[in-house]
Amino acid sequence: MRKPFIIANWKMNKNVQESVEFAKAMQNAVPLGEDVGIAAQALSLYSMRAAIGDSPLRIIAQNAGSQPAGAQTGEISIESLADAGVSHVLLGHLERRLLFHESNEEIGKKVATALQFGVTPIICTDEEKIQVTIDGEQHYFFHQLTSILQGLSPKQMRRIIISYEPRFAVGAKQAASPKVAETTCWQIRQSIADHFGKKVADEVRILYGGSVTPQNIYGIVSQPNVDGALIGRASLDIQSFLQMVNCFQTAKRQKLAAI
Ligand code: PEP
Repeated sequence: MRKPFIIANWKMNKNVQESVEFAKAMQNAVPLGEDVGIAAQALSLYSMRAAIGDSPLRIIAQNAGSQPAGAQTGEISIESLADAGVSHVLLGHLERRLLFHESNEEIGKKVATALQFGVTPIICTDEEKIQVTIDGEQHYFFHQLTSILQGLSPKQMRRIIISYEPRFAVGAKQAASPKVAETTCWQIRQSIADHFGKKVADEVRILYGGSVTPQNIYGIVSQPNVDGALIGRASLDIQSFLQMVNCFQTAKRQKLAAI
């Protein structure tokens, strides 16, 4: 079974001290063996990692530059992130695409650099699919993902995590329904299978993001093709985040029982 992953995306919130305190509190509260991460502001990442030592809590960057080093004023080097103990990086978040006009081409370069330095890319995608019929079979084409992932080997693809974040749900009042989340995550998996083979597609973790709360998380993450959640606003409060980590554990146990 794919290991579920739950991630807090704090965006441009919490200063260094608040971030460190939250990480320390989480470190003791996260159940052993669970994949839980926090995507905090770049300024806080090193201090968070230093404060929690080798705790399995994942410290995640929200963005990075496409080059390991060099003339990219204002960007954050993936090599330096790796050096600071960052294990994963969000790439292509909807806000990066909308506010900073990031292109699929640029995101693709960032993915390649992250892989080069052993930082796992979490590729966010908000797009609608195109449905095509080939030889009487339905196939799904996701333009953003296809352009970002082209050129990767199946071995590299296995290391990628995808987060499906529909535009209508990010920062909104309502999440996608569990059915919509499941259907789209399944279709993304089918499209990965078309490009990289079924075995690889079965291994890739696909998360859902967009207005996840303690009230709706269970319905979403208990779906068979939804391997976790990327959570914005509802992750800022530690009690709310912990409540969601617990729901997610229950969903995981149920999925295991169903195998
Ligand atoms: C996000 O921005 O990644 C996100 C999912 O935000 P929210 O949960 O606040 O909709």
